[in-house]
Amino acid sequence: MNGHQTPPQQRARMVEEQLHARGIRDPRLLAAMGKVPREEFVAHEDLGNAYGDYPLPIGAGQTVSQPYIVAAMIVALELRPTDRVLEVGTGTGYEAAILGELAAEVWTIERHAELAMKARAILARLGHVNVHVVVGDGSVGLPQHAPFDKILVAAAAPKIPESLVAQLADGGRLVVPVGGRFEQQVQVVRKVGAKTIVSLHDLCRFVPLVGEEGWEP
Ligand code: SAM
Repeated sequence: MNGHQTPPQQRARMVEEQLHARGIRDPRLLAAMGKVPREEFVAHEDLGNAYGDYPLPIGAGQTVSQPYIVAAMIVALELRPTDRVLEVGTGTGYEAAILGELAAEVWTIERHAELAMKARAILARLGHVNVHVVVGDGSVGLPQHAPFDKILVAAAAPKIPESLVAQLADGGRLVVPVGGRFEQQVQVVRKVGAKTIVSLHDLCRFVPLVGEEGWEP
């Protein structure tokens, strides 16, 4: 369908038709999503689908979210250029690359070593030197690099992981899909001093967060 368009043309069209037209207006985010080459992160057989308005399989039974969901989750984070960010669920590394364009430093953690190694190689090849990929259970965060100004969980948790809340800086924000295996709601947790304030956002469907503070394998 997109065969006659080059990847940069497909990317520009995705930004216009899937993001801007649906109300994503942050110019820095639109620029980042107009810059990061999604086709570099997807499987070879999905090259023609890289800018489709749907999630794609990425191996190990996992998926990369559709571009609009990536954008909506990042909008909810309210990123600032000085932020240190933790992403839980590296997958392909695509979302981490976008975060790296918008924040000062990104730590991203993935439980499947083969996905993490692939993502690390692509991110290095594309020059994302402020993005660090770690293999492990991100449901308990990354205490050795905490606190984080923002934490984005790209997988669905049965409840808000307490370790992640503990690793938020004062004034920080955690964005996490919470709910059952098949449908969840995006929840935003704000940390203000000793208090946490939770707000409920859109319904969504993510692959499960598997780990100590997630689902059992
Ligand atoms: N952000 C990714 C991207 O841009 O490709 C897509 C994330 S995918 C929807 C969810 C990822 O979370 C999967 O790769 C899965 O293996 C990972 N995951 C699930 N539970 C995890 C955990 N406890 N720690 C780290 N990663 C986890």
